[in-house]
Amino acid sequence: MSKALTILGSTGTIGDSTLKVLSLHPDKFSLFALTAYSNCEKMFQQCVVWEPEYAVMVEEKAADALERKVKKAGLKVQVIWGLAGLEYVASHPNTDYVMAGIVGAAGLLPNLAAAQAGKRVMLANKESLVMSGQLFMNAVEENGAQLLPIDSEHNAIFQCLPSIKKKGEGSTTKGVKKIILTASGGPFREKTLKQLERVTPNEACAHPNWVMGQKISVDSASMMNKGLEVIEACWLFNVKCSDVQVVIHPESIIHSMVEYADGSIISQMGNPDMRTPIAYSLLWPERGESGVGSLDLFSVKQLNFEEPDLLRFPCLKLAQDAIRTGGTAPAVLNAANEVAVAAFLNAQIKFTDIPHIVESALSSHSVKEADTIDLILSVDQETRQEVGSKIKTI
Ligand code: NAD
Ligand code: MG
Repeated sequence: MSKALTILGSTGTIGDSTLKVLSLHPDKFSLFALTAYSNCEKMFQQCVVWEPEYAVMVEEKAADALERKVKKAGLKVQVIWGLAGLEYVASHPNTDYVMAGIVGAAGLLPNLAAAQAGKRVMLANKESLVMSGQLFMNAVEENGAQLLPIDSEHNAIFQCLPSIKKKGEGSTTKGVKKIILTASGGPFREKTLKQLERVTPNEACAHPNWVMGQKISVDSASMMNKGLEVIEACWLFNVKCSDVQVVIHPESIIHSMVEYADGSIISQMGNPDMRTPIAYSLLWPERGESGVGSLDLFSVKQLNFEEPDLLRFPCLKLAQDAIRTGGTAPAVLNAANEVAVAAFLNAQIKFTDIPHIVESALSSHSVKEADTIDLILSVDQETRQEVGSKIKTI
């Protein structure tokens, strides 16, 4: 039977790739809702092609403009707006699957609404899990939702693990010795600390292997992305931070690996293209077309591996320390990083200021138990305000 899908963040790069995969499987999926922040023109184009039941714009003005265009074109799309609109479509009884493709903390409430409504949640938005790990995993478990990772590394690990977590089973990790999380090293892998002080937003966004939104591109360049992914892996696979080893693999061909107690290492490989993990999660437990071509091993020729350099890329260590500390520390790490990245993209701070800002936010925070979403959201807001005022003084 055909499954109805909601794409949160349909105008982003994850949204684009998801629509490309959907177009290969018209008999298997229908589009229930699309959502975006403010890009009315792109949303309108998507409505023309896909005619979903709902289109949600976070900004009211963008929603008004979209509604006029949709009416004029005679499309049967209901336009709604605001955060409540995101949660409404993410948890609506007529949607089966939800692609969590919003960037940043803004994804938390709609993703949680999808989990609480027992949907298949395809998680690209790692920030929501970093912020609310235990509460998010509880919501998935208690409401019979399915949480399938879209992040290429976690999707790879999911593919390499022995079985999925079943209700009450506790862990997916029987016989697993460790998880090996690969990282491309980003565009600045070979730069010295001195050179890193002068890199520009454009250079940071020019990732060697992946086409991505600006925020995750900067995170990849600082290796905060890998730090967020370590935290994501701890929650998704119920492992300790010390069981997740980060390995630089500049070719981005091996998307991650699982090492077993008997010495076996199982890896998942393929061309670096998000359509593979997206197709895997949409079609799971079956497999089918993603539109991604075969990997040409003869042109790849060799695969390289290096240890990460925590002196040049301290964000990775800050994230590892934050998950070890636990409680509200990862939410502070995430909020401080989001504000710092936005300031770097606006040319307000240097690239090398990002880890200092995050570190200072973490050291001035008194960690609490992250036991309610309200508390996590207020820690997120407080951190944003504090970091925002600090940046003004730089
Ligand atoms: P993007 O910037 O290209 O797109 C972001 C989407 O979120 C857009 O549709 C935008 O309208 C929407 N959005 C932005 N701010 C919003 C807000 N405040 N409220 C509601 N919607 C908002 O980002 P992306 O590269 O597609 O990444 C999306 C998420 O997927 C991120 O969490 C990222 O870490 C994760 N991810 C992306 C990739 C990738 O290859 N792009 C890979 C792994 C994980
Ligand atoms: Mg990733």
